[in-house]
Amino acid sequence: MSKFFKKKDNQEAEEKAFKARKVRLISRLRGVKDILPDEHKYWSLVVKKAAELSRAYGFKRMDTPVLESLELYERSSGRASDIVTKEMFSFVDKNGEKIALRPEATPGIVRSYIEHGLFNLPQPVKLFWLGPVFRHDKPQAGRFRQFSQFDLENIGEASPVADAELMAIAYYFFSELQLEVIIQINSVGCAVCRKEYLVKLENFYKERGRRTKLCQTCKKRLVKNPLRLLDCKEKRCQEMAIGAPQLVDSLCEDCRNHFIKVLEYLDELNIPYNLNPTLVRGLDYYNRTVFEIWPAFADPPDRSVRERAGDSAGKPVEEQSRQNALGGGGRYDGLVEYLGGRPTPACGFGIGVERVILKIKEKNIPLRDEEKGDLFLAHLGDQARRKIMVLFEELRKNGFKVRQAFAKDSLKSQLEMANQAGVKYTLILGQKEIMDGTILIRDMESGLQEVVDYKKVSAEIEKRLGSPSNKL
Ligand code: AMP
Repeated sequence: MSKFFKKKDNQEAEEKAFKARKVRLISRLRGVKDILPDEHKYWSLVVKKAAELSRAYGFKRMDTPVLESLELYERSSGRASDIVTKEMFSFVDKNGEKIALRPEATPGIVRSYIEHGLFNLPQPVKLFWLGPVFRHDKPQAGRFRQFSQFDLENIGEASPVADAELMAIAYYFFSELQLEVIIQINSVGCAVCRKEYLVKLENFYKERGRRTKLCQTCKKRLVKNPLRLLDCKEKRCQEMAIGAPQLVDSLCEDCRNHFIKVLEYLDELNIPYNLNPTLVRGLDYYNRTVFEIWPAFADPPDRSVRERAGDSAGKPVEEQSRQNALGGGGRYDGLVEYLGGRPTPACGFGIGVERVILKIKEKNIPLRDEEKGDLFLAHLGDQARRKIMVLFEELRKNGFKVRQAFAKDSLKSQLEMANQAGVKYTLILGQKEIMDGTILIRDMESGLQEVVDYKKVSAEIEKRLGSPSNKL
């Protein structure tokens, strides 16, 4: 029997044995994602941009644990909020403690601010946070059960400048990623003006039997959380909300002045926004400014973004934008005190990293390939392989981006890999070069090769590529 047939028989036998083992494959859970190497260039870009902007505006990075006590969210996000009632991953641990996987960043950050006495630092404390959050949502495009947020929180600043600064940073973040967005903004007032407003709202729903036409959830909301009636996704509830009294018309003088100032700063900075009276955000802790960042509407290009945003004829597009919000936030002046700290004004936002990446992909924005190298090291023979393993480390330490394929033997396949890595030069070391104390430098574009002194290889490369940056 020929060698070929023997090999084929062996392969078939191996495959049969593999199938016979009947190992059930374990897949990832519903609504969660693996981030494979190809996708990481998007993550690097988004994280880099978030970190750059945060640093520029004086926000310092901090992290909090994924696990927190369930009570933290019940008390802050609100027992009636969607996050707490429907979306939280929670469990009782081996000691009987009620634990939650964080569904949002702010409560944990505020807990940490109080617990570590950050109120003793000069105020405000400006924090940058980036990490995964977990919500038991119905998975669909752009909606996952584990996703990541880039969060900024400004704790200790009451001035409307802080609200406007956050929205400006969010806007610059997107525009520097070449994504067109519009800020949706509203004010939900304070406990005093909201109380008066809620009476007007409830009366509105009682009039002309509107209440009976609401969806089941909104019927409950009317009692527990009437503000949420305004941003229900159900068509019939949206129709019912048309003509509802607007919170901005009921603001007390302080809240109105605060809101006007925020808008004035945004105007000054030329940040496109849309006054959106139905935007309330679903969490209990917000007061005064609330905002969301929506993808700009895909309407006819002959009208300005502001005009388009205010246009009710574009409703379906608007609804899509609302559901695909890229970020959201607002002011939460009562939360620090509510969680046991001193009365401390604060505001913040969260931006969904996966949704940003989806947008970058959709728009085919060209990215710099961080994997691309300056140089490739190729070898011929085992002795050359050993030498270039040492040389690789030397060049890498000198700051060059070097690529290699130590395990390959054929020069042809090494050159193919050098081409794929997009390098300008390949250094080739063979038996002859070892004997002569030289190495070849091949220009990958022209194919021309030059012999250089092995000892001077670093200087020769620097001559061609310039000196590399050695900064950490
Ligand atoms: P929220 O605080 O719920 O407004 O969330 C802030 C941002 O996180 C949203 O604007 C989205 O970009 C993102 N986000 C919220 N929920 C999800 C989800 N289930 N999957 C992916 N991203 C999400």
